[in-house]
Amino acid sequence: MDRARVWPDFRDEAVVFEDDDVIVVDKPCGVPSQAAQVDRPDDLVVRVRSHLATRTPHAEGLPYLGVHQRLDQDTSGVVLFTRRASANPSIAKQFETRTITKTYLALVSGWPAHLRETTLEDDLVKGEDGRMIVVPRARPRGRFDRGRPRPEPPRPKNAQRAVTKVKVRTRKGDRALLELTLETGRTHQARVQLAHAGTPIAGDTLYEGPPAPRLMLHAAQLSFRHPSTGKPVVVRAPVPRAFDRWLAEGDVGARVYDDDAVLDETLRTAVERRWGLGRSADRDPPERRTTAFRLVNEEGDALPGLAVDVYGAHLVAQIHVGGIWEDERRRTRVLDRLHALGFDGIYLKNRPKQANVLVDTRREDVAPAEAVRGESAPAELEVHEEGVPLLVRLGDGLSTGVFLDQRPNRRLVRESARGARVLNLFSYTCAFSIAAAVGGAARTVSVDASVSSLERGRKGLEHLGLLDTPVKGAHAFAAEDVFAWLARAAKREERFDLVVCDPPSYSSTKKRRFVAESDYDDLVALVAAVLAPGGRLLASLNHRGVTRSKLRRMVGQGLRAAGREPIQIKDLPAASDHPPPPGRDPHMKAVLATIA
Ligand code: SAH
Repeated sequence: MDRARVWPDFRDEAVVFEDDDVIVVDKPCGVPSQAAQVDRPDDLVVRVRSHLATRTPHAEGLPYLGVHQRLDQDTSGVVLFTRRASANPSIAKQFETRTITKTYLALVSGWPAHLRETTLEDDLVKGEDGRMIVVPRARPRGRFDRGRPRPEPPRPKNAQRAVTKVKVRTRKGDRALLELTLETGRTHQARVQLAHAGTPIAGDTLYEGPPAPRLMLHAAQLSFRHPSTGKPVVVRAPVPRAFDRWLAEGDVGARVYDDDAVLDETLRTAVERRWGLGRSADRDPPERRTTAFRLVNEEGDALPGLAVDVYGAHLVAQIHVGGIWEDERRRTRVLDRLHALGFDGIYLKNRPKQANVLVDTRREDVAPAEAVRGESAPAELEVHEEGVPLLVRLGDGLSTGVFLDQRPNRRLVRESARGARVLNLFSYTCAFSIAAAVGGAARTVSVDASVSSLERGRKGLEHLGLLDTPVKGAHAFAAEDVFAWLARAAKREERFDLVVCDPPSYSSTKKRRFVAESDYDDLVALVAAVLAPGGRLLASLNHRGVTRSKLRRMVGQGLRAAGREPIQIKDLPAASDHPPPPGRDPHMKAVLATIA
């Protein structure tokens, strides 16, 4: 598989204007203007520079690009760069004096019928959660204030004036395609101003826009004077297909993906968002190399009911039973489109709606043993996570052997395990124990009721040559009920410096029924008994019905019930490749508690 084909630096057809002085590109939705991680640069500038370097390989190093503007990650459209320093003064001046004009297109619903044109003027301040906030204005003067000037509320010092001109271009039903001219260039300016006006941009999950397959904001046109010739230049970026569809029909739910172009655009956005991980294998240093990660995360990537994971050159697509992809034709199409991205093969999992519904997960119709598109992978496949080799099985039931949403938590364990005694509860294939062993743990104990899962864990440690290090028997495995094991360990006065506790939502054994939603605190109280003074507990849960704050509360309650006062309970952030559903907590939540 050619990773550069799935995740090219940049596509030539998205270069809309180019000469020796400037280059204008059509930034795809999902490409950040600034890298989120400094050590894994995946921003537009890096990508366009690499693209230009590959195209003209005789040039030394990466070619020059002068940055003058930015677009939000999920806004598409024209972005101009200078290609040599001599072009900078002219372009900088034009941006400063606003003689470069940019026209944005935005889709909204409920725009007032009489309003053909208006100018939005607001003061903005930075809010929490990365949102901008409009500073409230003084109310208009009322009847009883006659003659007396009403004082303006004090304007916060850090407020920034934002001015956006709005013109209606087309209407359909209650929807309108707006043409925006930004007179100022504040963060999220058009998004927050339109939201404040009562008509947030469709698909804008940060500002509660109506549902749409993406953020419906596109920089459609740019006019400037050429820095060398002084001649006017106008460049355009074609309007994405999703815009036409949404204007014509509004939110049609799942049906929007029956349009091949919209489905491709939506998948493409997810692919662009994962560019840094996608190219990790050929760009990152060995200790950061990652070949297994999530490509599509359901609602977080505007594709409800569909989760797609990358394992080396293969994909594993999980389709929720009862969801929108269960329809035979739709499923066929989405699998075809995914395959067309350039992976060697695709495995399919038909995931039951509820985790506690007992299905034989090895059944062919639930989880076919062979790839349903392209070629199958070896029965046991080695993938890498931040340099750590992990063994997975793509065709063996619903799960592959590694839960990819735990990557940042495994990193945390790896980075804090040196010399520690680590307990891994509900260890499954022992991925956390492997992380601890790699990080130099003095010992690990993995507890799980499943003998075969522990066997895979042992094999995984052996594969890394870590099984008997630092001393013989340093890594132990207990095939047992976690609750029973904890009770006995407490009696034996075993103590651990770091405990990972990642139970399923439901578990029932002959003796006990565990429902995470109501019993998590009891479990934590049992864990507390084996925590060494100053010890830490990484507690996680993958359950849509339990919020992050509820998990934090239950962990606190459990520790206090056992008389172990937590010094701190910290939320652990979700992995970048697992964007949460709009406005909600991620499915998998994790907290780190430290006790006195
Ligand atoms: N922490 C794992 C994933 C856990 S999956 C990881 O990071 O990869 C849940 C695991 O809990 C399964 O392997 C299942 O066998 C185990 N399990 C469920 N109930 C159990 C119980 N009462 N005692 C021990 N193991 C249990």
